[in-house]
Amino acid sequence: MEKKELMYEGKAKKVWTTEDPDVVIVDYKDDATAFNGEKKGTIVGKGVVNNRMTNHVFKMMEEKGVPTHLVEELSDRETAVKKVSIVPLEVIVRNVAAGSFSKRMGVEEGKQLLCPILEFSYKDDDLGDPFINDDYALALGLATQEEIDTIKTYTKEINEILKAYFLAAGMKLIDFKIEFGKDKDGKIILADEVSPDTCRLWDVETNAKLDKDRFRRDMGNVEEAYNEVFKRLGL
Ligand code: UDP
Repeated sequence: MEKKELMYEGKAKKVWTTEDPDVVIVDYKDDATAFNGEKKGTIVGKGVVNNRMTNHVFKMMEEKGVPTHLVEELSDRETAVKKVSIVPLEVIVRNVAAGSFSKRMGVEEGKQLLCPILEFSYKDDDLGDPFINDDYALALGLATQEEIDTIKTYTKEINEILKAYFLAAGMKLIDFKIEFGKDKDGKIILADEVSPDTCRLWDVETNAKLDKDRFRRDMGNVEEAYNEVFKRLGL
């Protein structure tokens, strides 16, 4: 499978068309952004980690009955995926308080939540991905009730699978963001990525941050953290 035309270039990935109209190639870059593109930088090797980790996770999801856009890994940084129309919702799950939740709710980072929280943001960079609820999504036609129900069911399963997966590698899954797409038949499938860019992962013993917060917060050892996750997951 070969890249034809550049279809889209985002903050962390390029997407190319292929000879198959239903398949595109995702090309993971080392570029990193934070705070809605205000902070820019490079995390050397990140593209390889995020590509390999996402594909490994997506294969695991498929085995557990959660459909994904994965077709096949083509190289260290490139993967063929089903072309989807992305549902414009950032689906966020929180197991432990951190980030914008801690700020908004005045809850200390690291506080264990009594149950997982599933929340939505509207995927719109110009608006800064505002926090929304189901009614906003329905009223604006971002998704149907049936699609929201499917997304919530899959997301809860994904959280349970990921928590166990990371814990077995000595990491706590604090929170994460996923995106879903609709395939050519309108079926909801997991798309985008699952990586240290989109998950908060803390060492189970020391709570050391092994994710993009090291870049966001200028903590140093950013590449080392991505490589540590790669190594611990045996990728
Ligand atoms: N997240 C993401 N992309 C975004 C916003 C959040 O991947 O545009 C991830 C983030 O890495 C974290 C989780 O979603 O694992 C929750 O992020 P939060 O809402 O706390 O926002 P942040 O503090 O990252 O701005």
